[in-house]
Amino acid sequence: MHIYSHPACLDHDTGPAHAERPERLSAVTDALHAAFPELDWREAPRASRGQLLRAHTPELLDQVLETRPDKRMFLDPDTVLSPHSAEAALRAAGAVVTAVDAVLGGKTTRAFCAVRPPGHHATADVAMGFCLFNNIAVGALHALAAHGLERVAIVDFDVHHGNGTQAIFEQDPRVLFASSHQLPLYPGTGTRDETGDGNVVNAPLPPDAGSAEFRAAWSQRLLPAVAAFKPQLLMISAGFDAHRLDPLAQLQLETADFAWVTAELVALARRYCGGRIVSTLEGGYDLTALAGSSAAHVGALLA
Ligand code: ZN
Repeated sequence: MHIYSHPACLDHDTGPAHAERPERLSAVTDALHAAFPELDWREAPRASRGQLLRAHTPELLDQVLETRPDKRMFLDPDTVLSPHSAEAALRAAGAVVTAVDAVLGGKTTRAFCAVRPPGHHATADVAMGFCLFNNIAVGALHALAAHGLERVAIVDFDVHHGNGTQAIFEQDPRVLFASSHQLPLYPGTGTRDETGDGNVVNAPLPPDAGSAEFRAAWSQRLLPAVAAFKPQLLMISAGFDAHRLDPLAQLQLETADFAWVTAELVALARRYCGGRIVSTLEGGYDLTALAGSSAAHVGALLA
């Protein structure tokens, strides 16, 4: 099991009182070091321009990489570009690319990317919702283009719908996108009737839904869709903001629910793709819940 991270991910400076703050990543890495001293930590390289251009327009690359502001600027009311954000964004996307290389190259079966900024709201041409580049989309497109895969499944249990990931892949049947999320909630997409080219499966949950509804959505709707797709690689947008303590949403998950869904995904990956999983951090804004839930997730990936 490889863990990819980079100190530059701490230097994306969103400013005081922003939910998506550097302390989130420290909470995750501290929790993983404490719970699993044997983990194999690797430094994330930068994603290349060519890798990013598989998912994003040249205009978005220019905005994120060439603006180089000398102080914080807002790309939208939620999304900040700070002096060192470009380097953090390059390392976050590069982590997922290199994790894909490691898993598909047989160096490890599973990998987790402890990175920020998160990625799943970024569309091909718009940075939004705390996200600059869509890290998991860049990784999935790398698996298809550089490793010749034909079917990659992306599952997303962040409490927010991964609108960016869905938008990038909804006309690309090589990728299945399966998501549970709270609705109504930002960004407002993710209804059951959004099915893309038959490769998008959404399981919206009402505010205040808890473990039972979450597990039912995965057992009855999302996991069977992934199994039917028979992925050659399973990728996880691992957001932990569906936890009951999270301040940005109202779902009522417990830490054990993240261990449960991860164990189900590991079993599915073993059945269809040699156990190969690349997971990357998305949201999670209560530091205690985030630390415990990310450790539960990685613990289940280690099984
Ligand atoms: Zn989220």
